Amino acid sequence: MPELPEIEAWVRALDGPVSASSVLRAGPAHVATLKTFDPPLAALEGRRLAGARRRGKHLLFPTDDGELVLRIHLMSAGRLRLLKAGAKGPKTPAFRLRFEDGGELVLTEAGAKKRAGVWLQAPAATETELAHLGPEALEVDAARLREILLNDNRRLHSLLRDQRALAGIGRAHANEILWRAGLSPFALSTQLEDADVGRLAAAIHEDLERALELRERGKGDKDVYLVHRRLGKPCPHGHEASSGGPIHQVDYEEHTVFYCPACQTGGRILKDRRLSRLLR
Ligand SMILES: [Zn+2]
Repeated sequence: MPELPEIEAWVRALDGPVSASSVLRAGPAHVATLKTFDPPLAALEGRRLAGARRRGKHLLFPTDDGELVLRIHLMSAGRLRLLKAGAKGPKTPAFRLRFEDGGELVLTEAGAKKRAGVWLQAPAATETELAHLGPEALEVDAARLREILLNDNRRLHSLLRDQRALAGIGRAHANEILWRAGLSPFALSTQLEDADVGRLAAAIHEDLERALELRERGKGDKDVYLVHRRLGKPCPHGHEASSGGPIHQVDYEEHTVFYCPACQTGGRILKDRRLSRLLR
């Protein structure tokens, strides 16, 4: 699933193009993709977007008259494409927005399951629906992070991914951030020392800012992720293999977590904690 850096890179790339001319045609949208019906998508036609914004992993496109907000959530498989006038796009995208200047914003989703979403609402309704989101991950300092960690006794990997606690981080960047901070994915949020919290806050900023910079240059997962999905690869910190070996993985809840034993668990190998196993 695209996380904060990838979404923010899209927001920066789209801000100019989507506000350059008015919307000529909004839709069609796949029936499972469009989550709202009143107002209809056609209400966007003839209006101009004020640009692109972001809240957590949601892309927001407010109209410049302040009356409507188009919201897009990519979920796991949704992908955006910005097409120049005359460029050939997919035949049946999940959603299409055509502009007066001939440009198009196209949402596609691979696979049979349609999970990506498009909403068209008044700003107040959008705000209400996003009110559950925690503070933006890039706006949180160590003091605020400490409050968030103490508010809920949870395993760090689970807490970092929780959009209600902190908005923008998913399982890939939770792996990256915890590795960077040298903290176990299974460490409990209320049991961190002040120094741990400081390192975690710094790791959140370092990791997300590095990833955003790479995404803005068009780099993909292979360059952005240093431990996520790198089972068996050497840890980028370059320590001796004898001190814990390469990147490991462990099943936790419905996720696979990647970590470096040497950097994060004092060399200890974590045991699977799959929900199905716990329920047996
Ligand atoms: Zn390591």
